[in-house]
Amino acid sequence: MPSSTTHDRLAVEPITDDDLLFVDDDRFAPGNVAVVTGAASGIGQATALALAANGLSVAATDVDEEGLRETVAEADRLGVDGSVETVVADLTADEDVERIVERAADFGTVRYLANVAGLQHIDAVEDFPMDRYDLMHDVMLRAPLYLSKLVVGRVRRTDDGVGVVGNMASVHGHYVTADKVGYNVSKFGLRGLTQSIAAEGGNGLRAFSVSTGYVKTPLVTDQIPDTADQRGISVDEVIDDVMLGQSRVKEMMDPVDVANLFVFGFSEHGDHLNGGDLLFDGGMTLTYE
Ligand code: NAD
Repeated sequence: MPSSTTHDRLAVEPITDDDLLFVDDDRFAPGNVAVVTGAASGIGQATALALAANGLSVAATDVDEEGLRETVAEADRLGVDGSVETVVADLTADEDVERIVERAADFGTVRYLANVAGLQHIDAVEDFPMDRYDLMHDVMLRAPLYLSKLVVGRVRRTDDGVGVVGNMASVHGHYVTADKVGYNVSKFGLRGLTQSIAAEGGNGLRAFSVSTGYVKTPLVTDQIPDTADQRGISVDEVIDDVMLGQSRVKEMMDPVDVANLFVFGFSEHGDHLNGGDLLFDGGMTLTYE
């Protein structure tokens, strides 16, 4: 397949109401707030939009200010019932993490947290730069724990104690591929964080993780040339063989498909989802040919 089709295969159409899961839940109202990290791009942006479309006030946070402006513009285009408020912040700075939750509380009762922000780095174990590992750890593990700590504390003080933490893991939180040790460790750790919150939950407080295969976002698009170089194969071979080779579903997911899982997981229909993982990977990890 010529590489000129690569971009077509990775193209994402703007979200419409038809793409979104709408859930009937009395708590999905503007008085309640969902903090969404990574909300300037990809899965985090779609999650912010899906939750706002369901009526919540969303504290959309990211280090990328321009991307956050785009998220607000998309919310306006969709005419969401809730709202998207932005908080520009760097998840590697504790004072920023604290400011995110303080600001979120200005918009209403903070009940939901979607830890979505993440980044990738491709290198073998023996070459993996430790400063890059530390950055990935800070963004994908330490900040999710610190945000959970702050949000759970607030949930405990609400009238009914209802609140949910949703963590964006990955198939790389179930099995691993070579040259992604920082990512693999982070995603396995994120599932550990999820289960740790679940163990202290019940009576309203829950946690779950979401594990998908490859989703059409910049994080994936940007790593395709690196993966091709590392393995000495073409970009199309990366998509067909490396990314979708083990999947029985031969299309990558759109960000909104993942966002809908957060909507369900946060809703009262997810009441028995505590510590569990929503593995939406097209059969990638549990089947083989
Ligand atoms: P993305 O690159 O589109 O979005 C990631 C966002 O995280 C960006 O907006 C970026 O600015 C933000 N971010 C990075 N470092 C930050 C920091 N220090 N402070 C604040 N924000 C920061 O990527 P995506 O694909 O939407 O990924 C979102 C999450 O989904 C990640 O955790 C990723 O591991 C996970 N995931 C992605 C896929 C996929 O195929 N795209 C599959 C499974 C899991």
